[in-house]
Amino acid sequence: MKILVLNCGSSSVKYQFISMTTERVLAKGQVERVGTDHAVLTHCFEDGKNIKSVSDIPDHAKAIELVINTLIHADYGVIPDKSEIRAVGHRVVHGGEKFATSVLITEEVKDKIRECIDLAPLHNPHNFRGINACAELLPGIPQVAVFDTAFHQSMPMISFLYALPYSEYQLNNIRRYGFHGTSHRYVSERAAKILKKKYETLNLITCHMGNGCSITAIKNGKSFDTSMGYTPLEGLVMGTRCGDIDPAIIFTMASKQGLSISEIDNLLNKHSGLDGISGISNDMREILKQMEAGNERAKLAVDIFCYRLKKYICAYYGAMGGADAIIFTAGIGENAAPIRELACENLECIGVKIDKTKNKSMIGQEGLISTKSAKTKVLVIPTNEEIIIARDTRYIVERLK
Ligand code: AMP
Repeated sequence: MKILVLNCGSSSVKYQFISMTTERVLAKGQVERVGTDHAVLTHCFEDGKNIKSVSDIPDHAKAIELVINTLIHADYGVIPDKSEIRAVGHRVVHGGEKFATSVLITEEVKDKIRECIDLAPLHNPHNFRGINACAELLPGIPQVAVFDTAFHQSMPMISFLYALPYSEYQLNNIRRYGFHGTSHRYVSERAAKILKKKYETLNLITCHMGNGCSITAIKNGKSFDTSMGYTPLEGLVMGTRCGDIDPAIIFTMASKQGLSISEIDNLLNKHSGLDGISGISNDMREILKQMEAGNERAKLAVDIFCYRLKKYICAYYGAMGGADAIIFTAGIGENAAPIRELACENLECIGVKIDKTKNKSMIGQEGLISTKSAKTKVLVIPTNEEIIIARDTRYIVERLK
């Protein structure tokens, strides 16, 4: 069975085409600048080589058509025709409280996804466009939605409810939803395999540290708490997002500085975090380089980033009554050894001790970075959200009558 995995963003369509017998990625790539006459397709082959082309791609439907035509292209395609695409798996950002698992997309499911648009106005509409485009381009082919929020639907009320009037939850759906669920799920399931333990018995703390960052407490194999909340703005320090702040700061920005709601939104989402503190960049590589060169603000950004992460790790360790392992993933988590070292420094009190040599050599690969005697294991696991989407899609499609 071959599955097309799609991730439709505001101006991009990312894809992977996966053969499920071996879980081999036959081809992958992305169409960027969708909505312009100079959209760029980058199509990568199994051997790592790639081709690029520029064309007029006014919308997501045209972008997906281009992807399909590339997959079946006479010269560089990987399948002879569309009929080999057995199913499509879509990343859908927000499933609200309506979806705790991945689902086959039906008209009823589409209605429910549409109802979640208010919760993710910047993401769900594009996901939705991708689903509609596939229905037209691949008629009769089953489509499955895999939600970023689904994994976190197991959180108990003590974790997901804010201390606001209860009516805000009842009437306005204001609660913690959590994001990056597919990534937290992938790395935690993988950790169970590496540790040779039953998933349902493990307490894990998974740190997804990319441009967006979130940390999840997984208790007995279920998401118990997570740092992103009603939106992906809450929690850890991120590339350009502030994470946790006192909400009263917003009143001051409005009343004393005269900023509008959309200006504050922009400031907190796009000009804060690593970028805001350092004044250099949102890119951790650049910040680490500048820190090594003696830049004080770069060092401050790194120190705050790691301190916040450390606080969350300890909070979740305490909240679960202990953890078997801590897992680092995504761009920073997989590659930035100095960040992992700083975040785990002086954590012997919760059984964490990093083997500095192992940590330095664990770049973009899977492995243990804690010392042999450490009670709480520390692992680096490159994330793979696409394979979870493909597996869920296969599982659902195989059970169709
Ligand atoms: P992601 O959103 O998962 O693609 O991660 C993006 C973040 O990972 C950016 O802040 C990058 O600077 C960071 N990153 C990627 N590679 C490295 C690296 N080798 N060292 C430090 N940070 C890295």
